[in-house]
Amino acid sequence: MSAPHDYLIVGAGLFGATFARRMTDAGKRCLVIDKRAHIGGNCHTKMAEGIHVHAYGRHIFHCNDEGIWAFVNRFAQFNSFRNAPIAIARGKVYSLPLSMYTFHQLWGVTRPAEALQRIAAQRLDLQGREPANLEEHALPLVGRDVYETLVRHYTAKQWMREPRELPAAILKACRFA
Ligand SMILES: Cc1cc2nc3c(=O)[nH]c(=O)nc-3n(C[C@H](O)[C@H](O)[C@H](O)COP(=O)(O)OP(=O)(O)OC[C@H]3O[C@@H](n4cnc5c(N)ncnc54)[C@H](O)[C@@H]3O)c2cc1C
Repeated sequence: MSAPHDYLIVGAGLFGATFARRMTDAGKRCLVIDKRAHIGGNCHTKMAEGIHVHAYGRHIFHCNDEGIWAFVNRFAQFNSFRNAPIAIARGKVYSLPLSMYTFHQLWGVTRPAEALQRIAAQRLDLQGREPANLEEHALPLVGRDVYETLVRHYTAKQWMREPRELPAAILKACRFA
């Protein structure tokens, strides 16, 4: 007697669901199980008053591969989305990622050269040594004002530790660093 399934897939998140779909398309029989009561794993959304709510945090789809784009469009309709985050720090609103808007909000400057001058005057000089922690990695890059306003408290909140207690590698992975 042949087995009822070719694959038992544990987890109905993006990986499990994609694998199951591709194997099913290839004629295999798949059984997908999940310990959660829903599919989609961390990307799961639920409907609340006609709105898709991301149960585990918001997700944005980035893709420049036509094959993947065609594949996902078999199952979902995508909205066009522009990511325009802002930060509220010390009672003021700042535009992110860092741009001339941010520098104007911080210092009132209107030209890139003025912003660079401000940052240069505040940069920590490590005199050639490697940064020992996240704070030492950030200060030579962005200077004291940007660090204190937009990096330090946000990082401490996210990691529940002061940046000087965190490894520099965390920030090295970030785009602005
Ligand atoms: C807050 C947040 C925001 C994110 N934003 C983005 C984004 O903007 N863009 C992006 O591309 N990615 C984003 N990600 C990452 C993305 O969610 C993951 O890369 C993706 O969900 C991983 O899919 P996965 O199938 O590997 O894992 P998961 O989505 O974690 O799915 C694994 C599934 O397996 C189940 N499972 C695990 N162990 C067992 C077991 N023993 N028995 C039964 N079931 C089990 C779990 O319940 C879960 O449903 C974000 C993640 C989070 C948390």
